[in-house]
Amino acid sequence: MPISNKILIITAPSGAGKTSITHRLMHTFTQLAFSVSAATRQARGNEQHGKDYYFISPDDFKKHIQHNEFVEWEMVYEGKYYGTLKSELQRIWDAGKIPVLDIDVKGAIHVKQQYPDTALTIFIVPPSVDVLKKRLESRGTETTESLAARVNKASYEISFKDHFDKQILNDNLEHACEAAITIVQAFLAK
Ligand code: 5GP
Repeated sequence: MPISNKILIITAPSGAGKTSITHRLMHTFTQLAFSVSAATRQARGNEQHGKDYYFISPDDFKKHIQHNEFVEWEMVYEGKYYGTLKSELQRIWDAGKIPVLDIDVKGAIHVKQQYPDTALTIFIVPPSVDVLKKRLESRGTETTESLAARVNKASYEISFKDHFDKQILNDNLEHACEAAITIVQAFLAK
């Protein structure tokens, strides 16, 4: 399989640990490069434009849609748009690397439909919706409303878990990271 076409997609409900697992994979495999999504939400804490997201205005986001510049995009939360730019995947492939997409469940399904043979989708399964809620609460980044929205969405997203190539239960972060590393090693060797 040519390296230029591979895509690694990590998806999960918010709070299931996908960002931690993605970071671990990025540190383990130098061939991987994080695909920076465009998003219309505000940057949090020490998030940086161009590193965590391309933080853009809703108007600019609409322009990218009109010009057909997204591989996929979603209104992930009420009024907040997120999308993977075609130019971002190309930038990473041109650098001889494999893009890693940390995106929501619907976005993951859309990308896989477009790259059925070269994309690998990994779904991180949280131990339970209750544990997920506690994790989000302790992260302290959510308001009561946004926490409720994320928890409701999580139950819905878990119902899609059979759509993905691989599933990893994250009841222990270290074990989940090791499982992810084994899966990605096999994917890179193909
Ligand atoms: P957060 O606001 O917590 O950074 O991300 C919210 C959700 O949006 C996460 O589940 C994240 O994976 C997802 N997300 C980030 N970028 C994209 C993207 O480009 N497309 C889609 N569909 N989801 C994304």
